[in-house]
Amino acid sequence: MHAMILLGGPGSGKGTAAEMIRKSTDYVHISTGDMLRAAITDGSPIGREAEKYIADGELVPDDVIVRIVDERLDEGGKGDAYIFDGFPRTLSQAELLDRSFEARDGNIRHVFYLKAPNDVLIMRLTGRRICRTCGANYHIVNVPPKQKGVCDVCGGELYRRADDEESTIGHRLDVYEDQTRDLIAYYEKRGVLVPVEASTTPKATMDVIMVTLEACES
Ligand SMILES: [Zn+2]
Repeated sequence: MHAMILLGGPGSGKGTAAEMIRKSTDYVHISTGDMLRAAITDGSPIGREAEKYIADGELVPDDVIVRIVDERLDEGGKGDAYIFDGFPRTLSQAELLDRSFEARDGNIRHVFYLKAPNDVLIMRLTGRRICRTCGANYHIVNVPPKQKGVCDVCGGELYRRADDEESTIGHRLDVYEDQTRDLIAYYEKRGVLVPVEASTTPKATMDVIMVTLEACES
C-alpha cells in the first residue's frame, strides 16, 4: 500500500492535477472533506463524534480525520495506491498519516509540491469565474465561456468568488505559505518531497508527476 500527496496553494492547480491522475492511473482519490461529510450524513460512530466538534464550533481534531482515512484504507482498493490532495494540512496530520501507512506496511512515496510564481497564481485566481446555477468553472483567459459572463452548460450567470478578488489573494497566498512551512520541511527531511513547476498548464504539471511515478515503478 502506498500513496502520493499533492500540496499546493490557492491557484496551484492541485485539484485539477489530482483529477487527471485519478483518471489515467489506478490511484484511488481520498478526499477527507467528502468522507467527513459522508460519515456525518450516515451517522456512523466516527461521524457522530466529528459532528459534536462541529456543533461546538470547533475544528475536527486531527486524530478523528486520520481515523476516517484509516477506515477507508482498510476497505482497500484496486492497486492499493492512493492520492491525497490538500491533505494533510498540518504537521500533526502528516505524522499520524505516516503512522497509518506504516501500520499497514505501506508508505507515502511522493509528496508533489506544486509551485508557481505569485503573479501567475494571482492571474489564475482573479480570472476564475463560477456559474451561479450549476457550479461549472471557467477562466476568462484559459477556459473562457463562449459568451462573456454566461455559462456554456446551463446559460447561468458567471460570478467571481469574493476571496478571488485581487486585494485578498495576496493574503491567502501568505497564509498558505505560513501554514505549510512545517509540513514541507517535514516531507523534505523524509526525502519524499518533489517540487513541481506548476506555472504553465495542468497537462504539463501532470506530465512531470507521471514521469516521477514511472521512474519509481521501473
Ligand atoms: Zn451553469
